Amino acid sequence: MLKIPGFGNTQPLAGITATSRLMTDELKKYLLEQCRQWMLPEEIRALSRGGLTEHGEKTTREIAEKEKKETLTDFKIERMYGFNDPKTNELVNLGHEKMLSTIAQRLLERQGDSIVNKCTKCNKLTRTPNAKQCRHCGHDWH
Ligand SMILES: [Zn+2]
Repeated sequence: MLKIPGFGNTQPLAGITATSRLMTDELKKYLLEQCRQWMLPEEIRALSRGGLTEHGEKTTREIAEKEKKETLTDFKIERMYGFNDPKTNELVNLGHEKMLSTIAQRLLERQGDSIVNKCTKCNKLTRTPNAKQCRHCGHDWH
């Protein structure tokens, strides 16, 4: 069973409103695509693994093994994909969809309102955490 700090926490976290904790497909996409800088290293590695095809993963693992034999200190591929990292493997083993939901949910619960950027006028989700203009109603708060 995967245990992530803050995940499944039933205590309301400071600054997080009930509304912003509701996960929609739009919010999930936003968290996964726009909020990488707030992700844990194993989450980024798991997402990189998710982007590999079966063949791509086989080839990449071979390169990682080769790299391990040839260099002693710098395993770039392993660092990027974490084939031997238990935390990364736990996430990957959840299956792709569950892994994506787990990462998005943790971001929402841990970072909440600090990264979920909503329009101050229509309250819809903006395109990025730093956006200062609404793509829905055009409101601008520069
Ligand atoms: Zn708006």
